[in-house]
Amino acid sequence: MLKIYNTLTRKIEEFIPINPPVVNMYACGPTVYDYQHIGHMRRYVGDDILIRVLEFNGFKVKQVMNITDVGHLVSDSDTGEDKMEKGARKFGMSTWEIAKKFEKQFFNSINALNIQPPSIVMRATDYIREQIVFIQTLEQKGFTYKIADGIYFDTSKFPNYTKLSGQNISELKAGARIEMVAGKKHLTDFALWKFSYSKVQSKNTPRVSSEGKRQMEWASPWGLGFPGWHMECSTMAIKGLDTETLDIHTGGIDHISIHHTNEIAQSEAATGKEFVKYWVHHNFLHVDGNKMSKSTGNIWTVEGVVKKGFDPLALRYLYLQTHYRQEMNFTWDALEAAQIAYKRLIEEVSKLKNPKVGCAEYEEKFLEAINDDLNMSKALSIVWELIKSNYPDSAKAESLLKMDQVLGLGFDKAKEKSKSIKIVVPAEVQRLIEERNALRKQRSFTQADHIRNKIRKLGYNIKDTPKGVQIEKI
Ligand code: AMP
Ligand code: ZN
Repeated sequence: MLKIYNTLTRKIEEFIPINPPVVNMYACGPTVYDYQHIGHMRRYVGDDILIRVLEFNGFKVKQVMNITDVGHLVSDSDTGEDKMEKGARKFGMSTWEIAKKFEKQFFNSINALNIQPPSIVMRATDYIREQIVFIQTLEQKGFTYKIADGIYFDTSKFPNYTKLSGQNISELKAGARIEMVAGKKHLTDFALWKFSYSKVQSKNTPRVSSEGKRQMEWASPWGLGFPGWHMECSTMAIKGLDTETLDIHTGGIDHISIHHTNEIAQSEAATGKEFVKYWVHHNFLHVDGNKMSKSTGNIWTVEGVVKKGFDPLALRYLYLQTHYRQEMNFTWDALEAAQIAYKRLIEEVSKLKNPKVGCAEYEEKFLEAINDDLNMSKALSIVWELIKSNYPDSAKAESLLKMDQVLGLGFDKAKEKSKSIKIVVPAEVQRLIEERNALRKQRSFTQADHIRNKIRKLGYNIKDTPKGVQIEKI
């Protein structure tokens, strides 16, 4: 039985879908205004593992993912410029062009990481009409009010507004650093529809481009404008999954207190039904102990990681070592170690042949680990135990291929992969290796040995083989 942590109840619960074996799952997707980085990717690998574990347990998962291509403002509290308009200016392209460019980059990244594509992908700009109808329902039910900035949701009318985050509204007010849109009745009220031209625009938070016009805007019963960010997710989740109550909704932990809280309020206000049974949230990835940010220049994309000589599945292997609810600290040393471990793993798997009756003992242990709130680091240690065990190769091969349905580490392509993955060494070690190669060519063996010692001091062993130099981390 699969057990998973539910943010809503703050407990690890047995997973029971509404209509088994079907599982309806919605994932907040990327905002396509800039490059998606390895922090974002940690989250999508996390979702991929969840889906694979559900499938391993015999469920049939239908996953809808949205692409946010309008309406996500720089601040989550409905102030600031639309990220898309800002991104368009940064890259000197139209909003529609950057949406296309970064959607492509997103799908290339998830593909490289062996993430299964969502069953259905929905772009916010393709469902403007449906979002307007959704807002009209809320209007008819008396949950909205109009101010100069747009149409807002009145959170005081929705009981238990903070049930997901468990936040206390008075604490929220006390600690409010949130920029308050003029005319909003309560701190937590949020935009359903924003007007293109609003009197509350300020110089610091331009709503429109330097030409004075939004690139993305639509006519509505309330006037020219665009939907608030949260609206797309409620509308497309219910439409795409064809149900008002989803089994699972996922996202990053940053979404809990505003975005998902607002999704719940507007969805439950409109339908009168519970919106989501299980909320699953992934923790963040930090780099060298710091938040990934442009100012510290520590933003890395999957393409960047590959350019440095890493296999994207070594990055996947690294992600699996940290539990999805724990913060993960990315370092290049950790990725180098993951690439070495992953190469060894793939080499072991590539030696196995003729899969036949697997090892029930290890398969059971593996299932227990993945069903224990997705304990993937434990699952990986069971994989290694199995490899080192005395079971026949054919049994190991059978069980490992089965386990890889969840791990997604490319065991079925182990032969090709074991040849292509290189050990990535620091630039200094690489330079010394080249220097040593040159000395050996000149038959200056004593000096070459001297360099080998230097390399050893940096933590690497060198072996000369007929195929060239082989490097191992000590
Ligand atoms: P965005 O595409 O900017 O809307 O981001 C999508 C989501 O990716 C964010 O809301 C987070 O949930 C997640 N995310 C962003 N940065 C990180 C990070 N450093 N680590 C993990 N997840 C992240
Ligand atoms: Zn969302």
